Amino acid sequence: MVTGKDVENVAVKLLKLAVTELPQDVKAALRRAYSEEENEVGKAQLKAILDNVELAEKTGAPMCQDTGVVIFYVTAGSQVEGLDNVEDALRKATVRATREVPLRPNAVDPFTQKNTGDNTGRFIPYIHWKVVPGDTLEITALPKGGGSENVSALGMLSPSQGIKGLKKFVVDAVINGGAKPCPPTVLGVAVGGGADIAVNLAKEALLKPLNQPNPDPELVKLEQELREAANSTGIGPMGLGGKTTVLDVKVDYAHRHPASYPVAVVVQCWAARRASARIYSDGKVEYLTHKVAQKE
Ligand code: SF4
Repeated sequence: MVTGKDVENVAVKLLKLAVTELPQDVKAALRRAYSEEENEVGKAQLKAILDNVELAEKTGAPMCQDTGVVIFYVTAGSQVEGLDNVEDALRKATVRATREVPLRPNAVDPFTQKNTGDNTGRFIPYIHWKVVPGDTLEITALPKGGGSENVSALGMLSPSQGIKGLKKFVVDAVINGGAKPCPPTVLGVAVGGGADIAVNLAKEALLKPLNQPNPDPELVKLEQELREAANSTGIGPMGLGGKTTVLDVKVDYAHRHPASYPVAVVVQCWAARRASARIYSDGKVEYLTHKVAQKE
């Protein structure tokens, strides 16, 4: 049985971890980019980013003033009792984290322009659900910054454009984004399904650890080609030039309608924030993306 309070406490912790401490794989990718960057200005930008990341971790303050729109991914074991408490608990956690971390209030009514002030609103926090066999509950917090989200793109290509069209669409999205998404970015790319499926898969691809290779060798090849093509643009760290425009590209796909070829690119900035935890049936909590002292 998971209680609402357990879920709320874990989700507050996840939001705090996400905005103050990058996962190890992202830090390692930024460090590697720094050591390999040859452009002086680009290298200085990466140094500033790494210093900022370190400072945020040390002081417990958010690494960027834009703490994003709050999105949760919930993977629920079918035997978990108390799942009806989860959505309410995640909303309460968002309100609490906004006050306690603090997070910048980023939920605005699109008609009245009124900011709710606590990061909740209609469909916000947005909660993605997956039900799987088992008795554990896994929660991931993805606070998604606006600058990178704004340059995400959906193309309803023609099937005749195929993989060549996909590559051009992705590179065009990177070029059009320029400095706006605070590069180096991570690109979530998905092809197939319908418009909604492609965008959802592309965003979910951002949850994959950067050091975890795609299990599909064909997609490994495509990811590498897209990474090289994006980095050949020379946009560089913070758009000031260099060979690191993207840290990584993660590709996923769904089968498609014979007449459709949707391609989605969801862009994540250098502040590639995410935090996950697993709650066991006995109440034990395991943090999956961050090191957290046991007593917490
Ligand atoms: S795009 Fe990312 S790093 Fe840039 S301001 Fe937004 S949240 Fe911060």
